[in-house]
Amino acid sequence: MELSKSVQFIKGVGPETVKKLNKLDIVTINDLLYHFPRNYEDRTAIKKINELLDGESTCFKGVISSRVVEITPRKNLSIVKVFVKDETDKVELVWFNQRHLKTMLNVGQEYIFYGKVIRNYKEFSVSSPIFEKPNENKNMGKIVPVYPLSSDISQNIFRKYIRNALDMVNNKISEYMPLDIKNKYRLSDINYCINNIHYPETFGDFNLARYRLVFEELFIFLVGLSKLRNIFENQNNGIKFKKALEIEKLINTLPFSLTGAQTRVVNEIIKDMESAKPMNRLIQGDVGSGKTVVAAIALLNAVKNGYQGSLMAPTGILAAQHFETLTNLLKPFNIRVCLLSGSVTPKKKKEAYEAIKNHDIDIVVGTHAIIEDKVEFNNLGLVVTDEQHRFGVRQRLTLSQKGINPDVLVMTATPIPRTLALILYGDLDISIIDELPPNRKSIETYAVGKDMENRINAFIKKQLDEKRQAYVVCPLVEDSEAIDAKSVTSLVDDYKNVYFREYRVEYLHGKMSNSQKDLIMGQFSKGEIDILISTTVIEVGVNVPNATVMIVENAERFGLAQLHQLRGRVGRGEHKSYCVLKCYNNSEVTKLRMDVMQNTQDGFVISQKDLEIRGPGEFFGTRQHGLPEFKIANLFIDIEILKQAQIAVKEFLALKGINENAFYLKIQNIFKSKFNEIRDTSL
Ligand code: ADP
Ligand code: MG
Repeated sequence: MELSKSVQFIKGVGPETVKKLNKLDIVTINDLLYHFPRNYEDRTAIKKINELLDGESTCFKGVISSRVVEITPRKNLSIVKVFVKDETDKVELVWFNQRHLKTMLNVGQEYIFYGKVIRNYKEFSVSSPIFEKPNENKNMGKIVPVYPLSSDISQNIFRKYIRNALDMVNNKISEYMPLDIKNKYRLSDINYCINNIHYPETFGDFNLARYRLVFEELFIFLVGLSKLRNIFENQNNGIKFKKALEIEKLINTLPFSLTGAQTRVVNEIIKDMESAKPMNRLIQGDVGSGKTVVAAIALLNAVKNGYQGSLMAPTGILAAQHFETLTNLLKPFNIRVCLLSGSVTPKKKKEAYEAIKNHDIDIVVGTHAIIEDKVEFNNLGLVVTDEQHRFGVRQRLTLSQKGINPDVLVMTATPIPRTLALILYGDLDISIIDELPPNRKSIETYAVGKDMENRINAFIKKQLDEKRQAYVVCPLVEDSEAIDAKSVTSLVDDYKNVYFREYRVEYLHGKMSNSQKDLIMGQFSKGEIDILISTTVIEVGVNVPNATVMIVENAERFGLAQLHQLRGRVGRGEHKSYCVLKCYNNSEVTKLRMDVMQNTQDGFVISQKDLEIRGPGEFFGTRQHGLPEFKIANLFIDIEILKQAQIAVKEFLALKGINENAFYLKIQNIFKSKFNEIRDTSL
């Protein structure tokens, strides 16, 4: 059966329909069959009228017991009503603007109906039910699929195409899962599964079909990832660094001793750097776990081996801060560090380009200004990117291509539940800094409503009078009609003119020029500003130890991982710190989420909870974070199947004498787009 043929060969599909289907990414018959339902209507059970429950969509049988009446309360509105009864009760059926039904329903005739029940105090009716005569067996007595569609294709028509495609294929899809895996993991036959994912006879059949399709989707994805990984593993063309003696010296001159976790990760990195295989390592560490010093050690190692290094950060503010930290840490070692970001003047930039090219600079710190074509390294040996979830995979790649197989280190503070880290970063080795430096004080966190405003302001004043500083973060730059949330401009007005007249209040947001932003941030760092009102531009990495108060306006609008990042801006110095989450709604979900923030400071716990409460889509903001979109698997509810598939992939790749290529050829045909996705996600 030619599944790769165009959908136009399906009965009933004309050129216009082909266009509409293409818009849904359905081009081939295969695409159509793998366009899975998003939901199902259970029309198998036929209820008695007195069993109908409010709000449920369900089937019931009854005889038309009254004349069909139509009323037209106003122009363009027609309401058709009729009563239906069985031996238990009677119920009114109501349709809007479907006047043609008047002649279709016969008094005394029995029908099966399916519709949504409205049952409360006064009213008992079913709205817009569909119906057919008993024994007609067209749309009733079965489980009916509901598809994700655009508005120009109706469910009924799409169902017909699926039916016709299934008839045409007629159980002749050839099996493509490796037999050993299929048998061991009790995966059902592919034809059974494709039939039953669309038209399951029972929910038992549906479950079997879904299990296999989820399993195979994850399996194929993971096999693809491990192939990519193999490409990296088998490379032996990397740089073999020798551990520099200066590393011990740097560690000994630090004003603190490294935590156990930092030491472990430093050793992992050094081992990677010594090997001929290019390093490709992700460091995950919660806010404040001390990733920067780990990066500094790796950079020092590269430079003392005669190579150049680079450190890329997502914002100018963060880049400037890293520049300062590295300059200070590496001062005793004769290392030349330069900064490349939007706020560096063109003249300075040009000089920097020259110096980088001539190896008069050892370490380049900057924003994505580093990946511009004009930047040419002399011999780039180590590439570090900070807060990597802010960068696309392509940017990471572009930076490493400025050297010859340089070692790559990626740092992120987004705590990703372990089960998902593999999916997101399947091509990277992962190190986790799972320990905070000792005597970090926990940050007192309070979720409050609007009624607490005065008390909060008084509290801020008290902190400011003790010479501390405060951040105020809100969702918008300017007030918006569409979004009911606080903005920087309106808050600045309130703070400057009403509450905090005698204090120095400034603001920061993404629409300001780089030099303006740097200026403000610099002043805040030096303690020349008391209150900094800002959007989430200060979310990542900023380090001002004297700031002890973080106020978040409209906290209900932020993701928990984001709130955790924001909270991490305080508690960086010797003073006790506070985080106040101001919420402007008190829904159950908000309450649950704020409870999490108040009860834990552990980024991993927080992200796991966020994931549970909101599901992965919202959690990651989907695509932006490189989480692949699956057709049927759901990384949250299918974690168990994911684990099974992970084991299966290991077994599969260890099998000897299997014709792997044949498998790939087959699945590539079926999951072409998936493979592109794997490539995009992982390179
Ligand atoms: P992050 O992991 O969030 O990037 P940083 O690298 O900015 O964290 O470190 C946060 C602060 O903790 C810095 O001021 C840094 O000097 C300090 N720090 C790092 N490691 C330790 C340690 N082992 N003991 C005490 N303080 C440390
Ligand atoms: Mg950092």
